[in-house]
Amino acid sequence: MKTITVLSGKGGVGKSSITASLAVLLAENHKLITVDCDVDAPNLALVLGVIEDNSQLIDRVRSEQNAILIKEQCSKCQECVEACKFQAISVDKEDFPVISDLLCIGCGACTLVCDDNALKLESVEIAGIRVGETDYGFPNVSAQLNIGKSGSGNVVNIVKIWASEIAEAINAEYMIIDSAAGIGCPVIASVRGSDYVVLVTEPTPAALWDLKRAIDIVNHFNIHYGVIINKYDINSDFTEEMEEYFTVNEIPILGKIPFDQKFVYALVNLKPAVIFEPDYTGKFLEILKEMIKNINFWDRI
Ligand code: SF4
Ligand code: SF4
Repeated sequence: MKTITVLSGKGGVGKSSITASLAVLLAENHKLITVDCDVDAPNLALVLGVIEDNSQLIDRVRSEQNAILIKEQCSKCQECVEACKFQAISVDKEDFPVISDLLCIGCGACTLVCDDNALKLESVEIAGIRVGETDYGFPNVSAQLNIGKSGSGNVVNIVKIWASEIAEAINAEYMIIDSAAGIGCPVIASVRGSDYVVLVTEPTPAALWDLKRAIDIVNHFNIHYGVIINKYDINSDFTEEMEEYFTVNEIPILGKIPFDQKFVYALVNLKPAVIFEPDYTGKFLEILKEMIKNINFWDRI
């Protein structure tokens, strides 16, 4: 199985939308699985027609520690309120401490000052992992980080393990990963172990700057990659500059996609662009062929 990760240094350049269209076309002739590793803001499942009602919760990821009150042992001295430097403890009407899940970082200071042993640290649920059948005949696995929780890199590692098991069960030829944007832990966890990376960008200085940082990550793992320039015609001069940069640095351009309102309408209607507007099919097939050609080329070497 080949694992292809779609990544963008900058958010909002059309990464998930492009991932969905590539996956739908690839699925016409290949068995595949998609994985949404943008655990802070997953939306690939939605674009592919998977909603909560037609998906199944397969794991609750626990990590991180939060302070928990053992009410029966609490003498209401409120020492813990003073001790918490994160303003995570308030007091209720009966003078019992109340710990905020969102603000507690599990430092443990409150447990040290509590002479009544009325506080303990416990691991908490930080994310849920779901699997669902898309409208296009392949499964999608996604994770959603709970509000205010950290550990997104770890969650990505776990969602990838689940996805690998499901991929094996269905004999998938491809795993298509939609990574988070940026260069943080979830991105590194998404890219690690990939066979190929597709980098999506747009012709703006900010996008190019962020793309270069994303390329540094991909190069760190020694993974081959190619670039898609989305909305290339919104800034033709800068697109030329970008293309020159890619040529000089021997970075393959997999394709260029023009700006089109229909792309936005496709997103509004929660459809992959190639389904909402079949005219896009030719363009995405070209990109797909270029991508497969690249992967096969590096396989032969
Ligand atoms: S320090 Fe312990 S006993 Fe005092 S209010 Fe906090 S939990 Fe209760
Ligand atoms: S564990 Fe730390 S952050 Fe959490 S409530 Fe106790 S003192 Fe505050």
